[in-house]
Amino acid sequence: MTPPWPPPWDHCDVATPDPCSGARIGSHTKCLAHLAPADRATYLADLVPGADINLCGTRITAALLGQLLAAVRLDGRPRLGEVDFSHTDFPDGADFINVDFTGSNANFYLASFAGLACFNGSLFTRGVNFHDTTFSEAVFLGMIVNGTASFVGARFCGDARLESVTCRHVLGPVAKVASSPEGRPGGVRCVLSAYRPEVLVPGVLGLSGGAARVRAGRRTAEDHFRNRP
Ligand SMILES: [Zn+2]
Repeated sequence: MTPPWPPPWDHCDVATPDPCSGARIGSHTKCLAHLAPADRATYLADLVPGADINLCGTRITAALLGQLLAAVRLDGRPRLGEVDFSHTDFPDGADFINVDFTGSNANFYLASFAGLACFNGSLFTRGVNFHDTTFSEAVFLGMIVNGTASFVGARFCGDARLESVTCRHVLGPVAKVASSPEGRPGGVRCVLSAYRPEVLVPGVLGLSGGAARVRAGRRTAEDHFRNRP
């Protein structure tokens, strides 16, 4: 989503064809997307697993996100520290599969995902903020949040799937549903409203009506999830 102008942070000096709101990188006057290739390569080379990242207001393509996550990989999993993706534009969606977010509260406030946003297997040591985030299609299979996951004001323009998600605390249009009659081993099955915020769509998860107790109509709900019931 377009941030207010001028944005209340030190931002990129690129002005054409459109003014860029991306946060400046270090002592540079450009955002990560607009850094000269050599400067961007240096920045990425200096990153270490668990690095703090501030990319608010930046346009992050799939290729650039891939480079960023590759730079912080540890034991096969990308590891990020404090991250600020507020107002960030992901024009190709985003692949955050198996990413460890170890900061206090991963911030996706008012971020916009134009393609598939995938958080499968991602782990948030603390919380994650999807407040007013705009998603196209989104999947959150096996995501673990050891804090609060906020979906307050989040908008979903396509299918959204939350399955086997474990959160200590959830805010927003998410409803907890019962495990299947056979009993699923661990995790919590959730269903997220898609297309129409008022209507929960069990079909997104392939749930039959009798198999799930869906507390519908909760747009501003607060559920407490535990790792194991
Ligand atoms: Zn820029």
